[in-house]
Amino acid sequence: MQQILENTKKCFGCEACCYSCPAGAIEMKADKEGFYYPVIDQAACIDCGRCREVCPSPDPYVFKPEISYYAVRVKDQELLQKSTSGGAFSLIAGGILGMGGLICGASYDEDHKVKHILAEDISPMRKSKYVQSTLGDIFGKIGEALKDGRTVLFTGTPCQCHSVKRVFPGSENLWLASIICRGVQSPLYWQEYCRYLEKIHNGNLKSYCAREKVKMDDAHTVVYTVGQETYQNNYMKDPFSRIYSKELSLRPSCYSCPYTTPGKDFDFTIGDYWGVEKEYADLADGKGTSLVICGSARADRLISSCSEKADIRSADPANALQPALVSPAKEGILRKFLMKDFACKTPDGDCDIALILKKYGN
Ligand SMILES: Cc1cc2nc3c(=O)[nH]c(=O)nc-3n(C[C@H](O)[C@H](O)[C@H](O)COP(=O)(O)OP(=O)(O)OC[C@H]3O[C@@H](n4cnc5c(N)ncnc54)[C@H](O)[C@@H]3O)c2cc1C
Repeated sequence: MQQILENTKKCFGCEACCYSCPAGAIEMKADKEGFYYPVIDQAACIDCGRCREVCPSPDPYVFKPEISYYAVRVKDQELLQKSTSGGAFSLIAGGILGMGGLICGASYDEDHKVKHILAEDISPMRKSKYVQSTLGDIFGKIGEALKDGRTVLFTGTPCQCHSVKRVFPGSENLWLASIICRGVQSPLYWQEYCRYLEKIHNGNLKSYCAREKVKMDDAHTVVYTVGQETYQNNYMKDPFSRIYSKELSLRPSCYSCPYTTPGKDFDFTIGDYWGVEKEYADLADGKGTSLVICGSARADRLISSCSEKADIRSADPANALQPALVSPAKEGILRKFLMKDFACKTPDGDCDIALILKKYGN
């Protein structure tokens, strides 16, 4: 097999092909922008076509009319504080854990790389990480859990959810919750940024949160700790976050994302409920409210059964239609220049992140 997709710009980097190859002939390798793509070892390939079968990209359309829309906010104030929006993820995960299930979500490892883990402890999965998460061996772990009769909730970007759905088709014990997603940034660009923070603050990066809730600001504060010092920056003034918000650093496939529709064949679609002030002024207090779109009857039942733990109100779909549910991010001309600068290394082999932040992060 020459390659899986004719147009690699359409590759989501979901790793389903890599996991599913029976010959172990596919490896994920980073390109010069720092995104991972499958590379086939032609000598090992047995041309079975399994990689093409599981790839969600040629058949990405998972449209299914949505069943219900909710504005959701967990009642536990500590949990609300720890969540990016209204805590819908924790609420749903709590329901699945109550069934004896396991949760799969994105977390930082000890080197601040973003990876999916499968666990009962969901605390590392909380908070948005605006970097492409590696799925790696998670398919194998989900497969084993499903074989053992466990219920599994997979949470991730829509393309990741679709990829998991294709690898485990028709699996009743598998629940899917997709975040509303504007796009992901490259893992290597993120790593360079972490190294840059360590360099300028002269210490080890201990923690980083792109969306912390400080002074009821709808989680618009970046907070990170290097060494003994903790630093705070308004999300809209933080150059790294601004580059993301300006959609200059996304994976190529994000600019033609086919999942920008509210109705998808997943149990849940969850995001920030932007526009909540038009419907429920009392929820527009900066503490965060989740938008939850249920795509299955069982998802609707789960949410409806959580009224003791959360403030759950029906939401008007017309209010909920934010950009990531309507059309993909736009690839501006500056992206090409940013990526050119990223690929250009300094004499000591680093990337000049300071220059990138200065040129594109204002
Ligand atoms: C890259 C990205 C882009 C987003 N874009 C939008 C948007 O345009 N509009 C919008 O309304 N909401 C967007 N969100 C979703 C939103 O920021 C919150 O993650 C969501 O509302 C869940 O918040 P919560 O309060 O329920 O719980 P939290 O506890 O904060 O939920 C975290 C959830 O996000 C998942 N997650 C975190 N980082 C990643 C990642 N890198 N890859 C895959 N899954 C991840 C975790 O697995 C967990 O399920 C985006 C999130 C991410 C990660």
